[in-house]
Amino acid sequence: MKGFLQSLPVVGKVFVDIQPEEVWAFWRFMQDHYRTTVVNKRDALEMQLVAQALDALGIQSRERFLRNFTTTLGRRIYTPFEVGSPRGGWDLWSQVVICVHEHQHVVQHDREGLSFEVSYLADRAARARWEAEAYRSNLELHFWRYGTTPSARRIAEVLGDYGCRPEDVDVAAKSLALSAVSIRKGAVINEATHVALGWLDEHVPRLRAKGVA
Ligand SMILES: [Zn+2]
Repeated sequence: MKGFLQSLPVVGKVFVDIQPEEVWAFWRFMQDHYRTTVVNKRDALEMQLVAQALDALGIQSRERFLRNFTTTLGRRIYTPFEVGSPRGGWDLWSQVVICVHEHQHVVQHDREGLSFEVSYLADRAARARWEAEAYRSNLELHFWRYGTTPSARRIAEVLGDYGCRPEDVDVAAKSLALSAVSIRKGAVINEATHVALGWLDEHVPRLRAKGVA
């Protein structure tokens, strides 16, 4: 019993957690599949300009935008972390989740063409709908790993940080709650999640919640 209690936390942690090289390989796979590039947000002049503009418009502080948010423009994904190194609120699993979320935005871009970027930037209600769809990937991955879905309301509230109004957040929360019902029945709706789960099932099946097919 003593040996069991002593060894379990160490063995469990090393065995269960995703490893840096697996996160890196996963990003590599998603990038190859969707032909995207990853850019460090702080090094990108265009992101410095966006950060300044958002700050000036009172939408979001420069620091918060650069530190807390991953941003996708077309096929370029700007990350506030180095893929595979956990840092500042970005643990390894959250790097996997955000990878799928951002690639769902790439799917939207491919599906809708320029109207996606235009409406995303110009129309708060549309932005809430695009994000509700991308955050569905967060729910799908959470279910795959833990067998539960997190609060749709809490996820939707993040949209306040995207300049969305309370009524937009309400719509997003309802749409995410509906998605969660299907996800708990085993549905995988987002294309980027389908692609991602193919890789995760093959390479890190140990992470999948028991009972999730
Ligand atoms: Zn997003």
